[in-house]
Amino acid sequence: MAGLIKEEVLNELRSLLGPDRVLENEPMARHTSFHLGGPADAVVLPHGLDELRQVLSLASRRQVPVFVLGKGTNLIVRDKGIRGLVIKMAGGFDELRFQGPSVWAGAGLSLAELSTACAERALSGLEFAQGIPGTVGGAVVMNAGAYDGEMAKVVRTVEFVWYDGRVETYGRQAMEFGYRVSALQDRPVIVTRIEMGLRQGDRKTIIALMADLAERRRQRQPLDIPSAGSVFRRPPGHFAGTLIQDAGMQGARVGGATVSLKHAGFIVNEGGATASDVLALIELVQEKVKERSGVELQAEVKVVGEK
Ligand SMILES: Cc1cc2nc3c(=O)[nH]c(=O)nc-3n(C[C@H](O)[C@H](O)[C@H](O)COP(=O)(O)OP(=O)(O)OC[C@H]3O[C@@H](n4cnc5c(N)ncnc54)[C@H](O)[C@@H]3O)c2cc1C
Repeated sequence: MAGLIKEEVLNELRSLLGPDRVLENEPMARHTSFHLGGPADAVVLPHGLDELRQVLSLASRRQVPVFVLGKGTNLIVRDKGIRGLVIKMAGGFDELRFQGPSVWAGAGLSLAELSTACAERALSGLEFAQGIPGTVGGAVVMNAGAYDGEMAKVVRTVEFVWYDGRVETYGRQAMEFGYRVSALQDRPVIVTRIEMGLRQGDRKTIIALMADLAERRRQRQPLDIPSAGSVFRRPPGHFAGTLIQDAGMQGARVGGATVSLKHAGFIVNEGGATASDVLALIELVQEKVKERSGVELQAEVKVVGEK
């Protein structure tokens, strides 16, 4: 038995997916860009819609809670880990199919791989996405964006499956995209594939723009240290990083977690940080920024797992 999951359920999962794609008592530190987080009862790696629906049906029948994971690049998993089943989309669901200027991509495909493949075909619209390290599914659900681009501008159709097994598609309108939100965020659904509309452009110009954006990231962001990117949402009329600097919090530390000296909007794991360290540092930053400027910073990263 792993946490909430009985041995017979694990055995059913193993016979469905094969033993290599059922990871029991699996440290989430292995699946998050922050490199922290306690164990999930089980992480499963389904390939394709049929397997996914069978996993969901089993979880529902056996009353096992489900959490869906992309690449874990916008996540803090608490130190006690996740009770129930984590369904990891990265690694499976990696379809990539071009149809003229549009492309269908699997939700588990990496966004960087997708934007590079589009650039190679001289398709413009996803240049902004190359440095965002998650999956296409995670990016759509979060409406990820950077440098004036965001997923909302290119998404045409989103296919997803409800936890009860129904498959549905939403067009852009129904996705109700806003700043780092979409209609599917925190709903009992798993995005499986996405159609995006792009424009025919000039390959060299697209590649040059992507190289320029990558360089800007390298200069401004601590890309060589584990993190989940910008921790806070951009407050209207302000920049989180500037507010944090003004509050004297750049470089502040709790345990192994530090407010990055390179980019005050990032918290980095300098080695051995726990989720509790990061959460305590987030609270401290929120408190000091509120005191100094009156602005209440909201977390952009998702916090999950047992309290
Ligand atoms: C160095 C660095 C730089 C970053 N820069 C940016 C940036 O410029 N812009 C930006 O927007 N973000 C940025 N991020 C944050 C992160 O990469 C994005 O939010 C990304 O879109 C998350 O994708 P993911 O696959 O890792 O999702 P995860 O972190 O795995 O999940 C995020 C949320 O989406 C849900 N989810 C994931 N996949 C699915 C799915 N298939 N169906 C339903 N729900 C799903 C999860 O349940 C969770 O609630 C950065 C992160 C890092 C580490």
